[in-house]
Amino acid sequence: MSAIEHLKGIGPAKAKLFERLGISSVADLLHYYPRTYQDRRENAAAELNPPSLTVFKGKVLRTQLIPARSVLIFKAFLADEKNNQIECTWFKKRSFRAFGFDPFALIKKDFKTNAQVWVIGRKENRNNFFDHKITVEEYYPAAAPDSAWHAGRITPIYALTEGLTNKQFRLFMQEALHEAEAAGEPDILPPALSEKRKFLGSAQALRAVHFPNSLAELENARARLAYEEFLLLATAWGVKRTQTKAVAKGYTYEIKKHLLTPFRQNLGFEFTNSQKKVINEIFADLQSPLPMNRLLQGDVGSGKTLVALSAMLLAAENGYQSAIMAPTEILAEQHYLTFQKILKKLKVPVAVLTSSTKTPERRKILAALADGSLCVVVGTHALLQEDVRFKNLKLAVIDEQHRFGVRQRGLLKEKTAKLDLLTMTATPIPRTLALAFYGDLAVSTLTELPPGRRPIATQQADEYQANHLVAQEVQKGRQAYIVYPLIEESENISAKAVSEEFEKLKKIFPQFKLAMLHGQMSRTEKENVMKDFAAHKTDILVATPVIEVGIDVPNATVMVIQNAERFGLASLHQLRGRVGRGQYDSQCILVAQHKGSVARERLRIICDSCDGFKIGERDMQLRGPGEILGTRQSGELEFKAGDFFKDRNILQWALDDRDELLRDDPLLQKPAHAAFKARLQELYQKNWHLIDLS
Ligand code: ADP
Ligand code: MG
Repeated sequence: MSAIEHLKGIGPAKAKLFERLGISSVADLLHYYPRTYQDRRENAAAELNPPSLTVFKGKVLRTQLIPARSVLIFKAFLADEKNNQIECTWFKKRSFRAFGFDPFALIKKDFKTNAQVWVIGRKENRNNFFDHKITVEEYYPAAAPDSAWHAGRITPIYALTEGLTNKQFRLFMQEALHEAEAAGEPDILPPALSEKRKFLGSAQALRAVHFPNSLAELENARARLAYEEFLLLATAWGVKRTQTKAVAKGYTYEIKKHLLTPFRQNLGFEFTNSQKKVINEIFADLQSPLPMNRLLQGDVGSGKTLVALSAMLLAAENGYQSAIMAPTEILAEQHYLTFQKILKKLKVPVAVLTSSTKTPERRKILAALADGSLCVVVGTHALLQEDVRFKNLKLAVIDEQHRFGVRQRGLLKEKTAKLDLLTMTATPIPRTLALAFYGDLAVSTLTELPPGRRPIATQQADEYQANHLVAQEVQKGRQAYIVYPLIEESENISAKAVSEEFEKLKKIFPQFKLAMLHGQMSRTEKENVMKDFAAHKTDILVATPVIEVGIDVPNATVMVIQNAERFGLASLHQLRGRVGRGQYDSQCILVAQHKGSVARERLRIICDSCDGFKIGERDMQLRGPGEILGTRQSGELEFKAGDFFKDRNILQWALDDRDELLRDDPLLQKPAHAAFKARLQELYQKNWHLIDLS
């Protein structure tokens, strides 16, 4: 469809503003749905409207200009048919330079005595329900033809950017709808499916979602657009699945056991049944002729690392290289330590590569990866850099995959043409969602924790109680974490804040050894702090959320989370998972300051449950799936009309229909599907780098 500049009234400057909203074509504009609606009908059902909003249609009784010292005030008094009256007020700064210019000229033109006007505004005194004084936000002369789009109807309110007003935007939307209707574009839904589901047609649905004639019509339109959205996404994945399915990887794995057997014997414990089951699933994938694309989900502490290592050892047994990528340096280091301990005995070389690896060391690692002498590598996204080349990479593991963007996950796969991919997460994805949106993804789940784990007692407390508990536990010979939140997403400021708290805490706990950990420290510093804490050379670790994932020190039994209200559910659960890893009872203390209702709900959930899957489900409901799966920026799971939870039945229809559609026409080559395919291409060219629909 045509570029946004082709719309009447939109020049290059306006087009830039639209660009900021992610709108570059007329189609984008049409699919930019209202943020909310106001009921501006004459007998408005107030349920849509916030209590302070006033929508009023009336006749101008009189107006009044009041000059004050520094401002000019203009008032208009209005009455409706039942003689309800309101008083509208506008303020303008007195400007001496503009002497002779009347700042109210435009308003006066519309507010002549006896003129009929729509006024939309807020009560000046919000607490007074009967207040009749209104601060005007929008007004429309009832006689003007355009007014019908702004008042006297259910009116769309858009989320806009500075420089665009809702008033302008509605008129552009009208123009776009008009153009689309005049062009008579075909409905994008495949005809067989429109027939089956009996939704509104697309032109009708688009008009109704922007300018609904009734709430019922709005709901119908929304359902149709939600279905369309789900269907497009599900189909994109379906097509991708068709494309990738046929391609065999051209290599396979043989279970030789000369590494796996000693590995298991040296562990000192048995794998849990759950671990055995998922290892079997993964090995079956690796031995199959098709590339693996498997998601391993398992709660914090369920033992995912050793599952990954098992797969990596199978690769090593076959002379293949494997890599594991973690979202933070600290976690990469931690994995490295774990791997090194185990792999040394097996004589399998391993290295760690992050962005703070020193150049000579880095050069050595890159050379060893290129000539194949280095079999196992642990790292961060530094592994994705262009000059990191593998001789024989066959297996990639992405730990805490939800922390990476889609793009990063894709890049690793692009490094070698064919690759077995294992992604791991403690944030579970409901099965329908996984199937719908990852399409070709297989899911394994660790359903049990290693034996002997006890639930972590979680409670809210004040700082004093928290410190008291820390002291008690440390006296018993245990260790503690005290975590402060990231401030404004900046490790820089947070580092400073943590340093200040650290100084205070040293005075509170003069008898104990404290250490500090934050993202601004050098790699060696971090490494030393972690090593000392793991070896119990320090008692209390004061940190930013850099320790959120992966850290594993069984002797630590207290986790104090400061400003707990600022953490999301997943983070709280991950942080709590740093304790309760050994034989001792552990506790998590949440110290919260100001709590909004959502924060209070989060804290309640975390205190009530230790089950990561339950917490994950609630988290999705509170935040929406896109945010959680780390796909928000890519737009991959940003539903505009649909709601993953409310619209589960519509989602199910879309999934069923997708299968039906692709059975009939796997690559959407039939003319009846051309419009649908065109929209699919338009969507994914912009948002999605991983799919090829050509
Ligand atoms: P996560 O799934 O959160 O990544 P980890 O892989 O870090 O969990 O494992 C947590 C801890 O549990 C580690 O110390 C690990 O050695 C230990 N562990 C893993 N599997 C078992 C098992 N089968 N029995 C006992 N301990 C285990
Ligand atoms: Mg882990």
